Amino acid sequence: MRFDVLTLFPELMETIFSSSIVGRARSAGILDIRCTDIRAYTADKHRRVDDTPYGGGYGMVMMCQPAVDCIRAVKAEDAGRTRTIYLSPQGELFTQQKARELCAYDRLILLCGHYEGIDERILELEVDEELSVGDYVLTGGELPAAIVVDCVARLQDGVLANRECYEKESLSDGLLEYPQYTRPRVFEGLEVPEVLINGNHALQERWKREQSLERTRRKRPDLLKKDAGESE
Ligand code: SAM
Repeated sequence: MRFDVLTLFPELMETIFSSSIVGRARSAGILDIRCTDIRAYTADKHRRVDDTPYGGGYGMVMMCQPAVDCIRAVKAEDAGRTRTIYLSPQGELFTQQKARELCAYDRLILLCGHYEGIDERILELEVDEELSVGDYVLTGGELPAAIVVDCVARLQDGVLANRECYEKESLSDGLLEYPQYTRPRVFEGLEVPEVLINGNHALQERWKREQSLERTRRKRPDLLKKDAGESE
């Protein structure tokens, strides 16, 4: 899958996408992640990309011309099924379900805002949808874009060791994951549950299911209510 991150801070994004699992998948050619500098598209002789808002107000607004030209140039590079997303606190909340839906595209173009945001006409002309990573406001769309890329990337074949890694984890089936343990068997007097060491496979699966339900009830009861609401 191809990801295009359009940003005023491409070097910041390169650092994020060069390490760990995503970095390895990128080096192996499984993920195609490109970071494009919006400023490279400005027609302004002083290389400006923002201006003061009409009607007054604080801060600066990212101008139409550099962003629209940048999106169009990047779109034209590839004919695959593309979704253009603006990261915004006003967008639909990004969830695991949304990440799964985005896997249907060949390519995601992620536009990162900065300062006070972007000129509304950019949305009207070139953006398919807005996504928010939570009900709080950040200084820029770069960290939200990295979240979307990371979350969708790990659902692509070959990025994780196998599909079970993401099919059986928190939120994938509407529940939180059961508790995990690794060696040593006893640490500062705390023991790994007996069933994980001596139980048979069926017992272990039952224990994991019960633990998932119990901790979802305790930590995120809203997930169970949502599930019940959806099946009504
Ligand atoms: N003035 C804007 C508003 O009230 O909606 C907020 C602008 S914010 C300071 C700057 C940029 O950060 C936004 O253009 C957006 O790209 C990004 N951003 C901030 N919070 C975000 C969030 N919760 N989810 C996604 N992007 C966010």
